[in-house]
Amino acid sequence: MTIQQIEPALLYDSNIYLITGSKGVALIDTGTGFQSDILMSRISDTLNGRNLDYIILTHRHYDHVGGVSAVTSVYDPKIYASRSDASPLRAGDSESTLGTVFGGHIEPMDIIDFNEGDQIDLGEHKLVCIETPGHTIGSICILDETTGSLFSGDTFMVGSVGNYSHPTGSAEMLINSLRKLMDVDFDGLYPGHGPFVKSNGKQFLLGALHIMGEE
Ligand SMILES: [Zn+2]
Repeated sequence: MTIQQIEPALLYDSNIYLITGSKGVALIDTGTGFQSDILMSRISDTLNGRNLDYIILTHRHYDHVGGVSAVTSVYDPKIYASRSDASPLRAGDSESTLGTVFGGHIEPMDIIDFNEGDQIDLGEHKLVCIETPGHTIGSICILDETTGSLFSGDTFMVGSVGNYSHPTGSAEMLINSLRKLMDVDFDGLYPGHGPFVKSNGKQFLLGALHIMGEE
């Protein structure tokens, strides 16, 4: 049982996490996929001969999903995102996904809905969807119930909070989502950008609420 970070090829790529259990292997987010040769060799090295079974996308933005096409050119994983952010990805919408902002474009993707409470069981890791709209309307956090690790996407990071000024973003929804996470039991925090921490992650949730003007 492991959680490993795959080093992004570019500074503005999202963080990419590989979670390995005896029943399956999941990738959380993919980066932009620019410099896909570097991305794919790092994924392949980290997989170390194992198959990739799942990709879970924390939200629709290109810096998190652009690498899907590179990954699916080599592997055949099931791809998951929450209902509201799955639809623009299925449609190949390069606008609301910020594809055009990043200078890329979205190929229509085969996405399976991954909504509140849905689970992917990897054996030693049980990944559960927590819907946390705000950064985008379909943003999710993924809780590994087994290890108490939260993959927070761009909802909040170590020392910062998600931008809510992009299409479908909302400060009010973001605050409600941060409050909702207060009731979630987690220790490790693995955000979509910047550093991760293996313990005491909840202090950064309090920090994010504080940044948003909440106590
Ligand atoms: Zn984002």
